[in-house]
Amino acid sequence: MPEPPPPDAAAIAANLVAVRARIAAAARRAGRAPEDVALVAVCKTHPAEAVRHALAADQRRFGENRVQEAAAKFPALRVEYPDLRLHLIGGLQTNKARDAVRIADVIETLDRPRLADAIADAVQREGRMPTLLIEVNTGDEPQKSGVARGEADAFIAACRARFGDSLAGLMCIPPLGADPAPHFAWLAACAARHGLSVLSMGMSADFETAIAHGATHVRVGTAIFGARPQPAR
Ligand SMILES: *Cc1c(COP(=O)(O)O)cnc(C)c1O
Repeated sequence: MPEPPPPDAAAIAANLVAVRARIAAAARRAGRAPEDVALVAVCKTHPAEAVRHALAADQRRFGENRVQEAAAKFPALRVEYPDLRLHLIGGLQTNKARDAVRIADVIETLDRPRLADAIADAVQREGRMPTLLIEVNTGDEPQKSGVARGEADAFIAACRARFGDSLAGLMCIPPLGADPAPHFAWLAACAARHGLSVLSMGMSADFETAIAHGATHVRVGTAIFGARPQPAR
């Protein structure tokens, strides 16, 4: 199968303008301020060149799902763009926790006690504390990362006690093909119960629905960078 050509600078800039306009419109429809919804541009599998095009179009927040890929792309870009923010959005192995803590500004996929241990240990060693989000497996899908719904309250409380305000919120990926709205509503209610302000939810296909349910961060890949050159997960 031939790979799709990488989108050029003009296409990425135009896509960003369009996605930002859709975010702003969805926020206004929900009675929210557009600037209260942050766009995380998901650039996994796309080359650093594509990230540069987005940076040139004033995008500063990016999402990667693999630590190794992020470590290869981002340290050099960060030297040029010190205000760049990197979110790790993929399931995280404990043996990658130290690299994750070293390079990420936000780790969105804290989902089990052993990973909390590994992150706490890495924070000690690296002297660096990223913002943390807990991923909830709102569909209770066996193959998916994220803490099960029934275990979420206890895990959130334990992480809050351990990490304090560095634990900022929750993240979810609704089951493929399901109506995402009840999943977004569940996550928003869970965050409210715990006084957590950050809600990372919504991707290219459903970010407007997520904003209607209170998303503060939407993670958008395809609508900005085009189809991915290879399957990412
Ligand atoms: C790939 C990915 C996205 C972006 O998905 P698109 O459908 O390309 O917008 C968002 N969140 C996570 C966790 C992802 O892995």
